[in-house]
Amino acid sequence: MRNVFLASVALILSTMAAQAEGADAEDFLAANAIAAPAIVDCTLTDGSAAECLQLVTSFPGEAFRIGPFCPETIDDTGGLWVWDGDNPGTYRLDGAFFRMLSEQGYTFYDADGVINISDPGSGQRPEGNTCLEATLDTDVETTVLIPTEPKMADAVTDLGTVALVGMALDGVPIFADAPSVLETGHLPALDTCGGHVDPGGYYHWHATATDIETALTHEHVDADCVHETSPSDLFGYAYDGYAMYGSADMDGTVPNDLDQCSGHVGMTAGSDTPVYHYHASEAFPNLPTCLVGVTARDNFVTNAAMGIGAQNGRPPPPPQ
Ligand SMILES: [Zn+2]
Repeated sequence: MRNVFLASVALILSTMAAQAEGADAEDFLAANAIAAPAIVDCTLTDGSAAECLQLVTSFPGEAFRIGPFCPETIDDTGGLWVWDGDNPGTYRLDGAFFRMLSEQGYTFYDADGVINISDPGSGQRPEGNTCLEATLDTDVETTVLIPTEPKMADAVTDLGTVALVGMALDGVPIFADAPSVLETGHLPALDTCGGHVDPGGYYHWHATATDIETALTHEHVDADCVHETSPSDLFGYAYDGYAMYGSADMDGTVPNDLDQCSGHVGMTAGSDTPVYHYHASEAFPNLPTCLVGVTARDNFVTNAAMGIGAQNGRPPPPPQ
């Protein structure tokens, strides 16, 4: 079984090597996250036929640390949140933060200081203002398609709330901004690496976790992330096939020529010639806010019973 797997991987890698640049199976394999990368035929959103890297991922494993999300009481400290009411910014989920929200009409705790926590995967509609914390289901698989040869689109695609951004090397999907408390009344807590669990049970990023320290320092937030690496490291690939790096280029400098999507053309560790790639921004959540390239149709599918990407026909619950 393992020999068959390795042989198929070798075939994929030799196929990838013949191509200029793009989503690279070798990068995902090196990160030891993806069980069986494959090259498949796919259709891009502009209707053209293409080849895509197909990645089937699940939770990276028991050793992959997540959380904390919601604190139990206002005397405890949880993860992070991007507040967009008065005094907007990125905050640690602690008593000072929840008291500030209460002054603005959003009270997440009772008279004893206990935080109202609810599970958005439970199917129950939470009352009042609740801190959302979904239950991890390590059996959930996500299947994504990423073009192997990136293709510039005629116009950029803005990434709205919970839009599909890309796939991290660790096999964790990357989504754009989580929904605002101002819209839902609920707070889908992020952990200190900028990730949390979807109602469907799968963990996903809402930030460039490998370079989150740069953004947290910029935002004056005191938090540590165990998945932090180097600002110049490859974080993953966007769904248009362009690579996503931390805030720095391979020589350690922060580029000053980034476009509106936080990308530019330059040298990368993965290419012999200058290529387009994205960078993490300084502001949290430190992700591109738009994509410059064409994505594949049906590029994110899960086997979960609900949530983003679920395929069983049930209407998804409010996104988190
Ligand atoms: Zn660069």
